[in-house]
Amino acid sequence: MKSTVIDIENAVVSYREDIALRGLSLKVRSEEFVGIIGPNGAGKTTLLTIVNGLGKLLHGRVSVLGHYITPGNGHSLRKQVGYVAQVQNIDPRMPISVREVVMIGRYGLLGLLRRPSRHDWEIVDEVLALVGMSHLTWRPIGHLSGGEQQRVAIARCLAQEPELFLLDEPTASLDWKAQSGILELVKQIHDSRHLTTLFVTHDLSCLPVACGRVVLMKEGLIWGEGSPDELLTDANLSQLYDMPISAVVRLRKQTISVQD
Ligand code: ATP
Repeated sequence: MKSTVIDIENAVVSYREDIALRGLSLKVRSEEFVGIIGPNGAGKTTLLTIVNGLGKLLHGRVSVLGHYITPGNGHSLRKQVGYVAQVQNIDPRMPISVREVVMIGRYGLLGLLRRPSRHDWEIVDEVLALVGMSHLTWRPIGHLSGGEQQRVAIARCLAQEPELFLLDEPTASLDWKAQSGILELVKQIHDSRHLTTLFVTHDLSCLPVACGRVVLMKEGLIWGEGSPDELLTDANLSQLYDMPISAVVRLRKQTISVQD
């Protein structure tokens, strides 16, 4: 059996008066692909934040890759944790090329004072090729479409050579074709690099077919977890979101059958 690489025990996180996590526990094994869904404010992003060593725990403890996160070791653990967020609005005048953005992923490994070597640039070019962006290497980052920007964000994350792959709504605001391209890419990277992946999404149609386990979150707690087939029933989803949900599930099934 694969080892546990994320172990969250009874985590409580609050932002002043808002309690984001209310004693949440979760274990994730190496090479698992876990989809995380739940309504707005359920605590999904906060969950990724504590795995990333950036969240402040009021109670509980979090172990990542065999080390309990402390205020002092978050920075070094973060080198092994890749993070891709939603598409951001980038100023088109930002004077940074795609290749330079991807190199940012290597700075944690390089340290501040070392200049990138030829080997570092080779890795950058290799991951840009992997995400299908070699042809846009020299373009300013702000001149890319949303789907292209997400490919660059994934390349930056891979340049870091992470063991954990955290994605927070990476397909939000992308069109259907770009969404399906990103989902396919994430699955391919997860499989080929033997990563452990946590994938947060709002859109059930964007839950990758690769998900071995789905975690349903509500009000700062895990409300249910299990295989997608068991868990993603109309009844469960309607309860989770407090609204009738069968239309969304139909959408998801359609998407899966298209990808199949
Ligand atoms: P969404 O689906 O809307 O992105 P989420 O499930 O990711 O939501 P979180 O972003 O983790 O949820 O937020 C959980 C709770 O914590 C919410 O009530 C939110 O308002 C609060 N919260 C999150 N970040 C902050 C912050 N920086 N300051 C204050 N409150 C915050």
